[in-house]
Amino acid sequence: MPVDQLLEQLHLGDPRSVARAISLVEDQAEIGQHIMQGLDQQRLDGALTVGITGPPGVGKSTLTSALVEQLRQREIRVGVIAVDPSSPLTHGALLGDRIRMMHHALDRDVVVRSMATRGRLGGLCAAAGATRRIMAASGCRVVLIETVGIGQSEMDIASLADITVLVLAPGFGDEIQAMKAGILEVVDLLVINKADMPGASKLRFDLGREAAESDRVLETVAAENKGIEELLAGILALEAAFRKDGRFRQRRQQSRDKETVDRCLDLLRDRIAGLIRNHPPADMDPGVAAEVLLERILHIPG
Ligand code: GDP
Repeated sequence: MPVDQLLEQLHLGDPRSVARAISLVEDQAEIGQHIMQGLDQQRLDGALTVGITGPPGVGKSTLTSALVEQLRQREIRVGVIAVDPSSPLTHGALLGDRIRMMHHALDRDVVVRSMATRGRLGGLCAAAGATRRIMAASGCRVVLIETVGIGQSEMDIASLADITVLVLAPGFGDEIQAMKAGILEVVDLLVINKADMPGASKLRFDLGREAAESDRVLETVAAENKGIEELLAGILALEAAFRKDGRFRQRRQQSRDKETVDRCLDLLRDRIAGLIRNHPPADMDPGVAAEVLLERILHIPG
């Protein structure tokens, strides 16, 4: 399909064109750049990306699904990107999430995409960033990025989002001990899910006084759709505030920069590997060889 036609279909929200565009960009096909350049800027600006992160088992998938449901009730088209940075699987990844999303499977206004490391590190921020833009251009007013785990790479991807939500649950408080202090500086909203289980109030207490008293800490029972409406209201209220005070624009710029760095490193890795293959640095210490190579690549004549 010619790129113009693909773009036209994509902007009409056609699911197959959206999936095709994402794949082309992921494969770094040349046509991918044309697609990215041709996306409707107004839709990109108008869409909201929400990062949902937290340790495995706290109920992120259930919560994401409940949020999708809530958005669909309001007839809002939504995209979901499920990212698993630790998984090398390509298509088997996050099967569970997909199955849980199945009751949205026939809804063409729910666009779901799973992503793993594809057997290599790097490039995931860039891939997730491109995917959210394609989804937004296709008419998704909201894009949810769900990441597994709370390691650095998960946090990196979550930080692509305009708003980040950290999900915890009773029994999972220890997972965040290290980052407990000032946790609300890192995330915008903190959700205590499984509020139906004993230990929810203890978890709130353990988070410290600042968190306990904040209106940015919400309780949900995702499995029963409780607190989801309030969570969505909280998210949309934050969006409005961030758009007003300039933080929205600022974060977009930061995430663009991050994606650019990510993409650069990805491209560099391939090129350097190629260079070394074609001109193996003879008998040089790898540290020295790296310096020499970088000097050669980055040297700007003038
Ligand atoms: P994830 O690994 O963070 O994505 O967690 P899942 O969404 O897969 O949920 C893990 C388990 O917790 C599943 O068995 C869910 O049914 C259950 N679960 C999710 N939300 C709730 C909740 O609000 N209350 C209770 N009791 N269980 C829940």
